[in-house]
Amino acid sequence: MKYTKQDIIRMADEEDVEFIRLQFTDMFGTLKNVAITRSQLEKALNNQCMFDGSSIEGFVRIEESDMYLYPDLDTFTIFPWRPQQGKVARIICDVYCADGTPFEGDPRYVLRKEITRAAKMGYTFDVGPECEFFLFHTDDNGQPTTVSHEKAGYFDLGPVDLGENARRDMVLTLEDMGFEIEASHHEVAPAQHEIDFRYDEALATADKIMTFKLAVKTIAKRHGLFASFMPKPKYGINGSGMHINMSLSQNGKNIFDDPSGELGLSKEAYYFIGGIMKHMKGMSAITNPLVNSYKRLVPGYEAPIYIAWSATNRSPLIRIPASRGAGTRVELRCPDPAANPYLALAVCLAAGLDGIENKIMPPEEVRENVFEMRLSRKAEKGIESLPGDLMEAIEEFEHDDYIKGVLGPHITEKYAEAKKAEWADYRAQVTQWEIDEYLYKI
Ligand code: GLU
Ligand code: MG
Ligand code: MG
Repeated sequence: MKYTKQDIIRMADEEDVEFIRLQFTDMFGTLKNVAITRSQLEKALNNQCMFDGSSIEGFVRIEESDMYLYPDLDTFTIFPWRPQQGKVARIICDVYCADGTPFEGDPRYVLRKEITRAAKMGYTFDVGPECEFFLFHTDDNGQPTTVSHEKAGYFDLGPVDLGENARRDMVLTLEDMGFEIEASHHEVAPAQHEIDFRYDEALATADKIMTFKLAVKTIAKRHGLFASFMPKPKYGINGSGMHINMSLSQNGKNIFDDPSGELGLSKEAYYFIGGIMKHMKGMSAITNPLVNSYKRLVPGYEAPIYIAWSATNRSPLIRIPASRGAGTRVELRCPDPAANPYLALAVCLAAGLDGIENKIMPPEEVRENVFEMRLSRKAEKGIESLPGDLMEAIEEFEHDDYIKGVLGPHITEKYAEAKKAEWADYRAQVTQWEIDEYLYKI
């Protein structure tokens, strides 16, 4: 524990904090908060802050709607972009029921459960995400568009690049909030950017992903831009992924590293990969949660499609980056930034642990570019594909009892129900593509 209640009260007073936002995340990855003033801080720190859970999508029914926010003291952070007199701070909270039990629909609780399970096996789960996003212009009414006048590409720099200034500001703001930013760069598509922060334990990383999106969106707005984490905002150019770099450590040592092992990897690393590959289809609805997510997972845009792994090339789902020692890790390339980070990390960890517990060996590494492999060769090697759309992903999810067990009955039911409704609504749309393609011909 970094902070005590007294520390929080002292920091709030020393820093002239007037508002404290009590934050949590709903099932679909949306950040929520309720603001209190300094006068209510003691009450909030004593876990007495109540809210109406029935108003949060996917939470609870009206009859059982009183829920409590238990602040996680270590997450106290001041928002650098709010006024510096009468400052605004936030604390991320766990959601509890009125009877004092953790709420099963709280995604943070789902991740905590898997972290505890890993801890019982002696492991700490370390995760480093790579969040990509677009910076677009807004229209005259301030509404976001997919327009950008920027034409830069991978690693480009520009003298008159509004994106570059916004990105610089984002990096400095995140640093003010305690992030260690490792790198930031222009991504492959015009107006696309990436900012990478240092890996941390899974819960801290999931919290940071939520904070990251809020900070990036807030700073973009200051620069007259709109930051979007939509997985595939534009046809014909790269989408935005959120690659997840994962490792397990035991007593401070990365256990995926084994200089004497094949490719310098330990048995556990192989089993972890095996577990992820086994459950990948079942967990896609969590790592790639939107109708739009599956428009990113198509050939030609550096996003994966095939369930395969490689230490040498980037085309498969799982890559083993070159660094070894403490930096040995497994990079999962399908997740996108629309995913609820708590749920996504929970299912990744659970799948990896299943691999370790049941010694699931992954198939052989694929060294060639899977996209160029002939169908027959893929079939010969037993290489399967990720779900092709959200409905397929939901069906796979419903067939994976292990993944459903990780989420628990409450989230499983509400999540599947909401995603099916999303799919049904989408399926009934008549898109511009159909009009362009069929109207004149038929
Ligand atoms: N934007 C690509 C994706 O959709 C990834 C590019 C990269 O390798 O960083 O996953
Ligand atoms: Mg990238
Ligand atoms: Mg990557």
